[in-house]
Amino acid sequence: MNNKKVAIIGGGLSGLYAAYLLEKHGITDYVLLEARTQLGGRINSVSVDPNSNIDTVDLGPTWFWPDFQRQLDDLITELELARFTQYDTGNMLIERSQHEAPIATEGFMASPESVRLSGGMMALINKLRSHLKNQHIMLGKVVRKIQNLDGDITIHYQESQDKNTTKTDSVAVQHVLLALPPRVIENTIEFTPSLPTVLTNQWRNTATWMAAHAKYVAVYDKPFWRDDGLSGSAQSRLGPMVEIHDASMPNGSAALFGFLGVPATVRQQVTHDELKSHCLNQLTRLFGEQATNPKLTVLKDWAQDQYTATQLDFNNINEHGRAPETTANSGPWAGKIIGVGSEWSAQFPGYVAGAIEAATDGVKAYIDLKRSAP
Ligand SMILES: Cc1cc2nc3c(=O)[nH]c(=O)nc-3n(C[C@H](O)[C@H](O)[C@H](O)COP(=O)(O)OP(=O)(O)OC[C@H]3O[C@@H](n4cnc5c(N)ncnc54)[C@H](O)[C@@H]3O)c2cc1C
Repeated sequence: MNNKKVAIIGGGLSGLYAAYLLEKHGITDYVLLEARTQLGGRINSVSVDPNSNIDTVDLGPTWFWPDFQRQLDDLITELELARFTQYDTGNMLIERSQHEAPIATEGFMASPESVRLSGGMMALINKLRSHLKNQHIMLGKVVRKIQNLDGDITIHYQESQDKNTTKTDSVAVQHVLLALPPRVIENTIEFTPSLPTVLTNQWRNTATWMAAHAKYVAVYDKPFWRDDGLSGSAQSRLGPMVEIHDASMPNGSAALFGFLGVPATVRQQVTHDELKSHCLNQLTRLFGEQATNPKLTVLKDWAQDQYTATQLDFNNINEHGRAPETTANSGPWAGKIIGVGSEWSAQFPGYVAGAIEAATDGVKAYIDLKRSAP
C-alpha cells in the first residue's frame, strides 16, 4: 500500500488544477487517481492531424467567456495559451420543418464573446499536465471504495483495463479531494462508514452538466460554407442536431459540430453509425453537397460514458444545479473529503470556469485544515 498525505480522485480539469495548486504551495506528497487511461475527463479534443498539436476538434467543452470568467481567463494568460473568438460571421440557418427549405437569417452576435483555445480545450489540460511530475499521476485506476478508520483513509481502486478481475489495490492518505461529479461519486464509490444521508442526497440530486448530451463533429479541408456567406451556425427543429456551429481551427482543419436533440434513452437504441449517417444527411441538407464528404466524423455520446453519466442523468433536464456541500458537516468524514469538481463551484457550476473555481476553493480548504491540525 502506498502512503501519501492527500489523494485527488479524478484527472479532469478540476483534478489537474488542484494538483497544480498543491505543487504551487510546495505540497508534493499527493497522488492523483484517474479512471480513464487519459486525462481531461469531459475535456476531450480529438487530433485530426497526428503531426500537429493544433489541429484538433473538441468533443467536450469548446468555449469560455473571458468577459466574466476572470479567474479562468487569468489562468489561460498565465499558461500562455493562444485563444481566438468563435467564428460567427455571416448568416445562420434555421430549419423549421421537413416541408420548408432551411432559411438563412442574420446570425446572433454572441455577447459576451465566446472564446476558444488554439489546439482545443485539451491545450489547457496538456499545459497543466506539463507542470506535474509523472510519479504523482496514476491513470486507469477506478476508485471503488473509500474507508475511514479513525481518521486514516484507505482508497481502494481497480485497474480499469482489468474488467474481469475483482482485485484491488489501495493507497493510504489523510485527506481526499474529490475532483469528479458529485452524482458519479454517489453512484459509484462506496464509503465506509457511510456518508451522512443529507450529503449523499444532495450529491445524487446534483445533475452533471452536459452528461446527457452527445456531440457530432464533421471535419473538412475547407470551411466552404463561409464562401456562401454562412457562419456555420444553424438551429433545427428537424434534427438530429438541434444546434450547429463552426468548429474550424485556425491553422488547422475546417469543421462543423452539433449537439444532438435526440434524447439519451433513444440514442441508446440506435447504433453510432446510424446516428452519424443522420447527422451527415442533415449537414448536407443545410450546407449543400460539399458537406457530403468530410475527411473525418466523430460522435461522442457522453450519456453512455460511465465515468461521466449515471442513469439519473439520462432524463435530466438541462440545467445548472446549485452547488452542493463540499464535505460532511460533522462526523468522521467532516473535512476528510472535499468536493473540488466543477459542480461544486458557487459561480459557474458545471462549467470549465467552475472546475477552476471549485479546485481553488477546495485546495484552500485543505491547506487551512492542514494548518489548523494539531
Ligand atoms: C459535450 C460537452 C460540452 C461542454 N461544453 C462546455 C463549454 O463550452 N464551456 C464550459 O465552460 N463547459 C462546458 N462543458 C462542461 C465542462 O466540460 C466541465 O465543466 C469540466 O470539464 C468539468 O471538469 P471536472 O474536472 O470538474 O470534471 P470531469 O471532467 O468530469 O472529470 C472527472 C474525472 O473523474 C474521473 N473519474 C470518474 N469516476 C472515477 C473513479 N471512480 N475513479 C477515478 N476517477 C474517476 C473521470 O474519468 C474524469 O476524468 C461541456 C461538457 C460536455 C460534456
